[in-house]
Amino acid sequence: MANGDDEHTLDPGDWSAARALAHRAVDEAIDHLARVRERPAWREPPPSVHAFFDAPLPREATPLEQVYRDWQEQVRPYPMGNIHPRFWAWFMGAGNFTGALADFLAAVDGSNLGGGHTAPALVDRQVVRWLREMVGFPEGASGTLTNGGSAANLVALTVARNVKAAEAGVDVRAAGVTALPRPLRFYASEQVHSCHQKALEVLGLGRAALHLVATDAGHRIDLAALRSAVAEDRARGTQPAAVIASAGTVNTGAVDDLVAVGEFCRRERLWFHVDGCIGALLRIAPAHRHLVAGIEQADSVALDPHKWLHAPFDVGCALVRDAHAHHASFALHPEYLEEHARGIAGAPHLFDYGIELSRSFRALKVWMMLREHGVEAFGRLIAQNIAQAQHLAQRIAAEPALELMAPVATNIVCFRHRLPGADEAALKEFNTEILLRAQESGLAVPTDTTLAGRHSLRVAIANHRTRRADLDLLIDEVLRLGRTLA
Ligand SMILES: *Cc1c(COP(=O)(O)O)cnc(C)c1O
Repeated sequence: MANGDDEHTLDPGDWSAARALAHRAVDEAIDHLARVRERPAWREPPPSVHAFFDAPLPREATPLEQVYRDWQEQVRPYPMGNIHPRFWAWFMGAGNFTGALADFLAAVDGSNLGGGHTAPALVDRQVVRWLREMVGFPEGASGTLTNGGSAANLVALTVARNVKAAEAGVDVRAAGVTALPRPLRFYASEQVHSCHQKALEVLGLGRAALHLVATDAGHRIDLAALRSAVAEDRARGTQPAAVIASAGTVNTGAVDDLVAVGEFCRRERLWFHVDGCIGALLRIAPAHRHLVAGIEQADSVALDPHKWLHAPFDVGCALVRDAHAHHASFALHPEYLEEHARGIAGAPHLFDYGIELSRSFRALKVWMMLREHGVEAFGRLIAQNIAQAQHLAQRIAAEPALELMAPVATNIVCFRHRLPGADEAALKEFNTEILLRAQESGLAVPTDTTLAGRHSLRVAIANHRTRRADLDLLIDEVLRLGRTLA
């Protein structure tokens, strides 16, 4: 917009028109959210929408009214669907209105959370302290908000790598991984999330550094197998560095025995990391916190408020017991990023605890949600999802046509439709067709996985809008599709 004779700004030329549009957008967003149950859980973007996004780089101005209308028509009807009560794909949170409002307010505030002596930075640090307390880490432990669990795990594994390299006499920040006298080895169950392989690849250690360990019948890490893996690697001349325990696996929600893994790590002088992207928050649900007993003993934990805490995407968090080691892994102060005793740089730099320099004000949504509802409300929602998973498992057990595929440890249910006489390949084809038809009809969004070579439908209930009746609908539909397709 023209601001004077020859100077321009991005501010609206007409603030009252901008205000009117913003008010309408808020009204429509609230209607959209309040009526989410009436829409399909998922709907495929049609060819016309694909074609719409082939438009070239805009050179001319378009009135905001028109841009907003395009959002309404071309984008809003075809979302992921995770805010829908019958969305149970992968593992996601269902968002919430306060979090969305906070994201808007954070964007208007505009602060860069790289650091600075600002109130937003105090919000960020307070949210990290609150998450630290929720996980049971001691005062003095450090942490950082990231864009998600993958980044949080990467931050934690970076600290683990650097500490273990230092024990081998190498300053890996200075000399790089090629200076390591012996290759580092990380241990995790074969059910561990794929982000750990990616992290070790990014850290220059390669996927060979990830030693996958067998699991027991409950899909938890097999401690005897872990012990022999570490002993073998020592004998082979590699340097065992860390165990990555899963507090909630993606496939089945299984929780490793964190007390036993922690004791093993202390005995073997290994870094004890917990991937708690799914299950760390079990600690705020009193009836279920025993599942993650021992998490508070970890050297580092990754968790994901955009999953079971339902913060809108994105926000993850890495917590590290040894704040000094955390800081030493990432701190870097060029001349243009000096801290001062006073002024805007008169506060700790938050970018010293991770790989991002510029950081979003993602803390605000977590802060507003936690203050509005209180932490216990989130614990109750976690318990509610676990009870719903039990209900679903009981429905499955009661249907002769269905088969439960894994023990239900938390809120993830794996099952499939039987097909008498069919081999694994035919079963997979049959169940995949059931899955895709359920998705394409918009009724519900489960996903699938494979457990020890057996294909399985998978329902991950991290959703505060789900009711038991929604799960009953899913079962009825799977049975109906099974009859139709058999
Ligand atoms: C989701 C998930 C991750 C990755 O987190 P993102 O937030 O998707 O990056 C890592 N580990 C586990 C167990 C997860 O469920």
